[in-house]
Amino acid sequence: MSSLTLRWGLRTDIGRTRRINQDAAMANGDLFVVADGMGGHRGGEVASDIAVGHFRTRASVPDVDELTEAVVEANRQIRARADLDPSLRGMGTTVVALATVVDTVGPPSFAAANVGDSRIYRLDAEGLTQLTEDHSLVAELTRAGQITEVEAAHHPKRNVLTRALGVDDHVAVDRWLFPIEAGDRYLLCSDGLINEVSDLAIEHILRQAPEPVQAAERLVDMANASGGRDNITVVVVDVDEVSGCEAEET
Ligand code: CA
Repeated sequence: MSSLTLRWGLRTDIGRTRRINQDAAMANGDLFVVADGMGGHRGGEVASDIAVGHFRTRASVPDVDELTEAVVEANRQIRARADLDPSLRGMGTTVVALATVVDTVGPPSFAAANVGDSRIYRLDAEGLTQLTEDHSLVAELTRAGQITEVEAAHHPKRNVLTRALGVDDHVAVDRWLFPIEAGDRYLLCSDGLINEVSDLAIEHILRQAPEPVQAAERLVDMANASGGRDNITVVVVDVDEVSGCEAEET
């Protein structure tokens, strides 16, 4: 059997200007999820809570197909709830999820899924890499070369999403499967971090903080110090040890 040792830290914070925290998150050692809800009349809070709550009912996911199906099912549940309660109509949420896939024959991998503009980053020897692609209007305009990244950061429509859970019966889920490497540090976060703290500053904090809990605290503190204009949620995951089946043979 392959084995894996992870450590993690999770912080979610209302920020300095919002009256409620519409972000939700979970971490259980096998599954790490961040959701950023939207919609008035507590709708956003309910949507992100349904999405994360659906993952909480699952101890783990065996593969990337199951992870994708869990996101699709969360979408179904949000739609069903909005159908029952007209005051919740129009609610939606982003979701990013990272799950360990422990294979009985090969080394363990991470499965990841994304809908919306929350992000997953990886910090390794090469630096900080954004693994997910934002499903937002400004990200699409940037990818099409119509605006620059600097313009995107200050664009008046930077909160407009092109994909979210709760919007439609069909949801397209971006998904990945990649190897887990010892020493890597992962970050899942809502846009309340990204809009306040530059990637460079995020990388600096992730490199300096020895423990994932400290890294999560410092990122939230930095977002609040920079304005805290939105809810801020971060999950930091460290890969301490990875051993595949070949280790059993020695
Ligand atoms: Ca947000």
